[in-house]
Amino acid sequence: MNFDPNIGQYLIKAFAEGCASHAYIVAGEAKRLPRLLAECAVVTMCPNHTDDDCVCCRKVQSGKHQDVITLPVDPDKTRLTVTDIAYLVDESAKRPVDNSEARVFLLNAADSVAGVGSELWQNKLLKTLEEPLTGIYIFIGVTDAEGLLPTVRSRCQILRQHRQTERQVRDLLVARGYDAKYSEMAAAMAGGSAETAEQLFADDVVFDCYALAADIATQMTSTKNALRFASDILSKRDHIGDVLGFLTVLMRESIVYRLAPQLCLLPSMADTVRAICELYTLNAAEGCVELLNQAKKRLDNGGNVTVVVDRLLSNILEMRYRCRKS
Ligand SMILES: [Zn+2]
Repeated sequence: MNFDPNIGQYLIKAFAEGCASHAYIVAGEAKRLPRLLAECAVVTMCPNHTDDDCVCCRKVQSGKHQDVITLPVDPDKTRLTVTDIAYLVDESAKRPVDNSEARVFLLNAADSVAGVGSELWQNKLLKTLEEPLTGIYIFIGVTDAEGLLPTVRSRCQILRQHRQTERQVRDLLVARGYDAKYSEMAAAMAGGSAETAEQLFADDVVFDCYALAADIATQMTSTKNALRFASDILSKRDHIGDVLGFLTVLMRESIVYRLAPQLCLLPSMADTVRAICELYTLNAAEGCVELLNQAKKRLDNGGNVTVVVDRLLSNILEMRYRCRKS
């Protein structure tokens, strides 16, 4: 197992030095959280682990270790409830059963820090966090540690997934044989995770989406061709997030290009970025980033895709005209 430097490797040291905490918040990308939580369980259950074929570690990794309890209890549910925490409270009073000295609770709370009921489970968990029992370790996986209640945060230590710079990710992809320009795009989209960036190469459509985003940023000049771009976006229905995501990257890049060009992430797209600078003032580009964030939020909340896309494109055009150089 390759341990994250900030999580698995950090915990190995903490256990070796006898200063491991009883409760951690593990902050990372949603896709990566199950793996990061598994790392925590492996290290806690097998802190002196040396042998790659170790029975204990294999049990933990395959989800069969009886002292590693994953919540929500129902694997089909994504939101934690007070019932899950009640289960944790009961189980944490029990002795380890599987030839071990610890019991580990892995809480995947990625979808549980906001919305209805999110405070209930956290409040129920507080008492356990305040009165730690020997041999009980709790790991709360989240994408946004700041979304948790301050009372929960203050009782846990926060471990954050290690991130590389976009340039390191790009270099790594190029070293693995990927095209340099695509590597740049993937790295800019993946927010410092080489693994996420590499996954983008699994589907060619993703790069078509990036090309479409570049066309929209440089060629959308009237409500008439906005209509065509709207239908192009809608034809990639399963990948609208990729189009809007890359459009955001491009708008940001055009801002960086003007303010701190040495920090640009997409040197091989410099022509595109310059064209965006011609069309959009700094204020307009900033406004567009905000419009894109709002559109993504509407889509996440189940907004009608056609309506959201149409409105977004006409708002972008309007923003461009409104912020024109005088
Ligand atoms: Zn082991």
